Amino acid sequence: MDKKPEVKTEKRWYAMSNEEICEKLKVNPAVGLTDQEAKTRLKEDGENKLNEPKETNAFVIFLKTLIDPLAIIMLLAGFLSIILPLALGRKITPAEIPGIVVIFGVVITNSVIATFQELKARSSLKALQSLTESKVVVLRDGKQKEINTEDLVRGDIVYLETGKFVPADIRIIEAPQLKVDESALTGESLPVEKTSDIVTVKDPVLGDQINIGFMSTYVTNGRAIGVVIATGPYSAVGKIAESIKNTKSRQSPLQKKLLQLTFWISIIAFVMGTAVFMISYFASDSHLDKTDKLIASLIFSISAGIALIPESLMIIVTISLSVSAKKLATRNVIVKGFEAIETLGAVDVICSDKTGTLTQNRMTIEKIFVNNETYDVNDFKYNAKDLESWSLVNGMILCSDAISEGNNRIGDPTEIAITDWGHRYKINEVKLREDYKRVDEIPFDSERKLMTTVNIVNKKRMVYCKGALDQLLEICTHVNLNGKVIPLTKEMKESIFEKMVPLLESALRVLGLAVKELPANAKDTEKDLETNLIFIGAIAMMDPPRREARLAVSRAHESGIRVIMITGDHKITALAIGKRLGIVDDTYNEALSGSEMKALTDQELINKLKHVNVFARVNPEDKTRIVEILEGQKDIVAMTGDGVNDAPSLTKADIGIAMGMTGTDVAKEAANVILTDDNFATIISGVREGRNVYEKIKTSIAFLLGANFAQMFTILFILAFAAIVKTEGETVALGTINVLWHILVVETLLAVPISLAHSRETVMSYQPRSKRESVFKWIIIEIISITLFNTLFAIAAFLITYYTYAKDVSSWGVGENNWLVNGRVATSSMAAYVVIIFAPIFYVPLVGQRNYTVYVPKEKREKIRINEWMVGAMVLAFVLNILTLFVPGLNTIFNVPTPEHLPTGKMTIIVFYSIGLSILVAVCKWGETWIFHWIYQKNHKQDIRIATFDFAKKQKRDKIKQLYRETRAKAKKIRQE
Ligand code: ADP
Ligand code: MG
Repeated sequence: MDKKPEVKTEKRWYAMSNEEICEKLKVNPAVGLTDQEAKTRLKEDGENKLNEPKETNAFVIFLKTLIDPLAIIMLLAGFLSIILPLALGRKITPAEIPGIVVIFGVVITNSVIATFQELKARSSLKALQSLTESKVVVLRDGKQKEINTEDLVRGDIVYLETGKFVPADIRIIEAPQLKVDESALTGESLPVEKTSDIVTVKDPVLGDQINIGFMSTYVTNGRAIGVVIATGPYSAVGKIAESIKNTKSRQSPLQKKLLQLTFWISIIAFVMGTAVFMISYFASDSHLDKTDKLIASLIFSISAGIALIPESLMIIVTISLSVSAKKLATRNVIVKGFEAIETLGAVDVICSDKTGTLTQNRMTIEKIFVNNETYDVNDFKYNAKDLESWSLVNGMILCSDAISEGNNRIGDPTEIAITDWGHRYKINEVKLREDYKRVDEIPFDSERKLMTTVNIVNKKRMVYCKGALDQLLEICTHVNLNGKVIPLTKEMKESIFEKMVPLLESALRVLGLAVKELPANAKDTEKDLETNLIFIGAIAMMDPPRREARLAVSRAHESGIRVIMITGDHKITALAIGKRLGIVDDTYNEALSGSEMKALTDQELINKLKHVNVFARVNPEDKTRIVEILEGQKDIVAMTGDGVNDAPSLTKADIGIAMGMTGTDVAKEAANVILTDDNFATIISGVREGRNVYEKIKTSIAFLLGANFAQMFTILFILAFAAIVKTEGETVALGTINVLWHILVVETLLAVPISLAHSRETVMSYQPRSKRESVFKWIIIEIISITLFNTLFAIAAFLITYYTYAKDVSSWGVGENNWLVNGRVATSSMAAYVVIIFAPIFYVPLVGQRNYTVYVPKEKREKIRINEWMVGAMVLAFVLNILTLFVPGLNTIFNVPTPEHLPTGKMTIIVFYSIGLSILVAVCKWGETWIFHWIYQKNHKQDIRIATFDFAKKQKRDKIKQLYRETRAKAKKIRQE
């Protein structure tokens, strides 16, 4: 992109008239570019995107993984084992080399895996983000169409609306009431007004170029049409910086907690290592000289310390989270960072928008209210000669932006319903809007709940205002009844409203229309437009609840999650929908409107919340207050949103969820999660995944800690035993190499499949976990039982061997110095080692099982499930373990007695019964779970983890499920036919 064509560089676009610009950019503003021309320009200029911010490169990440406390300890151990002998004036013996090599090998392998995982995680998060890239509506070949922002070129005519990021630098050619937030570029925190007027200031700074929309800023108000003057790197922001959007990939709270955990474990490891050193140096009866003994003891204590450290924990967490992020994406949940997955799993309250999330946002008009009569839409006779009839239909369409010609359906569903309705009467919205040109407008916003346009009808300036009925009637002074305009009294307003109640109660959304002719002297301000209107009539449309939403709501309830519905709609409509969805029930049977809410103090609102699950007619800032109040109650709150004004509440909530389809760019930017299908049910599957991941990570922690503690206690035992019995010669318990093998086989090979395990349904019956809940909750017993059984059987293997088969194994010398290794202890240690590395193979599928059996009522119990990864890992671990025991060469490295010292027959027997003992560990683990299960069931204590929900609800849910299945089956059948 070296050559910059003249047009793209410095040009005083702000000082030119619209015609000049269009001529310069060779575009007809009424037709736009041709697709062909756009393609050519795209080739010339490149894609419309900013340079990505520089990423930390792989090597830096690798170095960072080495600063991890665990890696530091391992490295220290490695260096010590090299430096110590040298410092004490002797060479490193060949027997020590494998240990040293393996230490460094493991650290580096671990760091490489961690780096690799980190990179993968990063790229998958990025890939996920690209799924939600923003689109922009342009005019090409005379037609409006939606394209990817990246395909935008110089000269494109673009349409902007509230909530959109300005996709490139744009000279505005039409902008009613446009306001843009430029804080990202200029630092100006308030939205600035933009117009299409020519700027006459000489050399204006960016902030003064009020007819230019700059890339990366966003529209807070209004609508605009503009022509692209510079794309991507040629834009103002492209020239000064790389992308200013930040990619969120902070460490999750869990990852932070685990880092702390590893720190504490390192300290315990240090203490234990010191203990091992003491025993080994002072208590053992050895023939070594002082130096050799010091070195041997030190190296030994280092390996004992390492034995405790769960090296692969962080890697497993990263893998679990990345796998989940991917899985979530296939289920329409895009997370922006890993912390979002975790928080999703802990959500207590979901505050959800109604329209589009709980409902289908596919509206159809069902009732018409005009001349004080309500008609069914099929009975309504459209008559172009009749003023009320003409105004209602055409006014509604003129006061909308949506297009629903054929397959080209762009715009707000409420307005699409209106244009669809127009098609019934053969009214083409595009043509109608051409015939009656719009000269001014005040766009819809969710605070006023109104939209107003001014159109030229029969040479008169006509104001059309459509919006929420209560808001609309407030600004009406007259009503048009059968061709006559009469004053609208308070009583009449009430009577109109009364007639609407049955419609609202049947969950219809009512939208009114009012008109007036704009006096010649009127200015185009809100005050002049939205006052003294003449009420014409109203339409009522149905936005049916999503079929799956009801089931999702009841699933949420069963998971101990409260669902609150928030809407701009009328209270009665909202309550009606809430009832249909099961959000409103006997306890939560009230709705609160935004204005009622404003009148309440915080404490009053908290009390109200005991009965209110529906908030109606709310403004976006009310949402922020709801979040604040709920979070004050120690709830973890998820909040959905789509508009620009929703950004504060999305940011404020523990988890902000933006709508992928209807959401504005701004909402998506502010959120942690994006729902690509805008569906409430999808949030619940997100929660399920979040809970599952958390459960899996806890299972890994239990597995790793249990296996590691067992290993370390076994080492301690053997040392203490040898010291007490005063065995002669050197005690070789588990050496560095054995400990490292444990890291590779048990901690990595066997533990990783835990993070790839299938998701469980049971987690959806648990109470949401609290913000401060320790990661150890619900796994302490697991860790203790694994440690206990594994250690006991390893010690049993040692003792059995010591007193039987190893009784007359003689000692042997190793290394140059010909250390005398006590054969009896070495052989027995080998038996213990076999249990340490084999037992996890058998019990790994059982770890964490208690959470799906013990704390669960009978009907929810889940079987043990083994996935293919785990089976593979188990088989591989088994085979590798056997190889290290029997393959000549390998066995010496692994401190295992060779056939020279211990006949193969005897060796095989020892290994055989030690593996038998390993299986017993798993059997005991299994038995323990069942004993607990039995005790808990007997005492009806299972519900300590289970979300409270009544049985009636469950039955209802099962019925709905059944119904849902049946309808789906029916639908399938119909489709097949
Ligand atoms: P929600 O999305 O929560 O249903 P909105 O803020 O979109 O609520 O709408 C609030 C009210 O504003 C609706 O009940 C309706 O009466 C009115 N309204 C919605 N969309 C439009 C529109 N495009 N033009 C005018 N009024 C609208
Ligand atoms: Mg809406």
